[in-house]
Amino acid sequence: MNESADKKKYLDSLFHSFGQQYISSDPIQLVKRFDNPEDQEIAAILISALAFGQVSQILKAGNMVLSLMENRPTEYVMNLDPSAALRHWKKFYYRMVKHSDMLRLLWVLKSIKYECGSIGRWVLGNYRKTDIHLGITWARCVEQMKISDRKLWKWPRSRGIGFNHLLPDPSKNSACKRAFLLLRWMVRKDEVDLGIWEGLPTAKLLIPVDTHIQRLAFNIGLTNRRDLSAKTAMEITTELKKFDSNDPVKYDFALCRLGILKMCPKKRNLFKCKTCPIFEICRL
Ligand code: SF4
Repeated sequence: MNESADKKKYLDSLFHSFGQQYISSDPIQLVKRFDNPEDQEIAAILISALAFGQVSQILKAGNMVLSLMENRPTEYVMNLDPSAALRHWKKFYYRMVKHSDMLRLLWVLKSIKYECGSIGRWVLGNYRKTDIHLGITWARCVEQMKISDRKLWKWPRSRGIGFNHLLPDPSKNSACKRAFLLLRWMVRKDEVDLGIWEGLPTAKLLIPVDTHIQRLAFNIGLTNRRDLSAKTAMEITTELKKFDSNDPVKYDFALCRLGILKMCPKKRNLFKCKTCPIFEICRL
């Protein structure tokens, strides 16, 4: 068996081993709390925007946001009154993100829903067949959201970078993990991902690169890069396309579990590594 076929065999096996039963270790669990796709897409945008830091902290912040929205995301957004909400949300903050940053995002989502009916339809309207990856599509969406915010938000704004931080922009050079995570959740469909933004091609997703994915991808030779940049995301995705050209990002959830669940140590460790499902293709 050649090296590439070997990698595919082990990665496919890893993909099949880490499914639905592992979502309790992932923020997507908060999105899957809802059955209605309209609630799911709003929850997904908010939870992915907060998906920085440790999973336990993300879950805490995400739970607080959803409970401030009375666990009815669509209804809450459509009836949002910023003057009342600013008082109600006063105690919310998550690292650099303040209550008014979250409410500005909700206000923008409300305007999109009024105009397009669903956020998925709006994203699809921003997709061009010439987009070589969906990061380009999402960059258009981010630009429009920032323009809407400047035009429509009439209430006080918190100081700092909180609002911009909620909307990572793939047109910059960073890996934009949270944007690509949102797209993975919404565009792929299987027992983990929701696939409710129909019409967008899974082949054009980019892998959400965080420290776990960068390290695992390095270990198995999908990249030699050590940084969390757009280039690293593209390089890893290009390699994964050799194993599934239509759905390269399907390996993300399983690979990431090895890091999140501390199954892969930072340095090769014979005790842990001998039970690793991708031991045979690890080059450390
Ligand atoms: S063999 Fe060890 S270092 Fe390599 S991916 Fe598996 S756990 Fe990580």
